[in-house]
Amino acid sequence: MYLSLWFGILLVGAGCSHSPTPTATSTPQVRAVAVQDNPLTRRINRPSTLPPVPPAGVKISYSSVNTTAPVLAMTFDDGPHPTLTPKLLDLLRERNIKCTFFVIGKNARAYPHIIQRMIAEGHEIANHTWNHPSLTSLSDAQIRQELRASEDALMAAANYRPRLIRPPYGAINTRIKQLMFAEFGYSTIMWSVDPQDWRRPGVSVVTSRLVSGARPGAIMLAHDIHPPTIAAMPAMFDQLISKGYQFVTVSQLLNLEKAGMPVGVVISPAQAVDEPATGALTR
Ligand SMILES: [Zn+2]
Repeated sequence: MYLSLWFGILLVGAGCSHSPTPTATSTPQVRAVAVQDNPLTRRINRPSTLPPVPPAGVKISYSSVNTTAPVLAMTFDDGPHPTLTPKLLDLLRERNIKCTFFVIGKNARAYPHIIQRMIAEGHEIANHTWNHPSLTSLSDAQIRQELRASEDALMAAANYRPRLIRPPYGAINTRIKQLMFAEFGYSTIMWSVDPQDWRRPGVSVVTSRLVSGARPGAIMLAHDIHPPTIAAMPAMFDQLISKGYQFVTVSQLLNLEKAGMPVGVVISPAQAVDEPATGALTR
């Protein structure tokens, strides 16, 4: 297989320091970040045949799934970003990696061509609200408006209806999860590995936190609006693929768990299996 020698230098809009309301209108600063992509160590992800949409009987909330298979999901929040997300998509395409993007509706409306590219290249897109508020501070009507506006942006961009939600900052409670599950059909997707990349701890730290945190069935969190995060991805992907891991979308991971359940196990939404939020409320 031909491997293009891409020594990408990201000249990025770095106006992405973590803020309560990341938007498409951040003021860009020019800053060079070298992507740590070594074609000699690049690894290709094994293709997956798992279904791309959640299975019947999906649970109300997940932070990881139960499996012994070395399969996990990488997720990116707060994009799409006009320059960083395309760079990320490039390096995912080079490795045949499919990820799940929890996009902000405002950004989806601003960059519909990036949404279209994500879908064309087999990634999953999920709802991260329209304007990135803390859902626990909103009325039910405001929550519905945040979710619907974001859905509308994805429908307008690509006729795509998301099936998963991640609450901004991880701020959530069981009542709101049930509202989103019952009215929108969304499972709430938290995470089991958080490298705290939005604090910008350094490229190698982000890489090592994700590599050391990876487990079968993990859901790993990062943000595609921070230049060092993008720079940390090539080494992380290559190291985990070398260890035998396969990357799939969140919905594929849910299908993997479902497929591994004993015959006869039925999960009813009325008996929703809830999981506690993990990590600090910082994203
Ligand atoms: Zn977020």
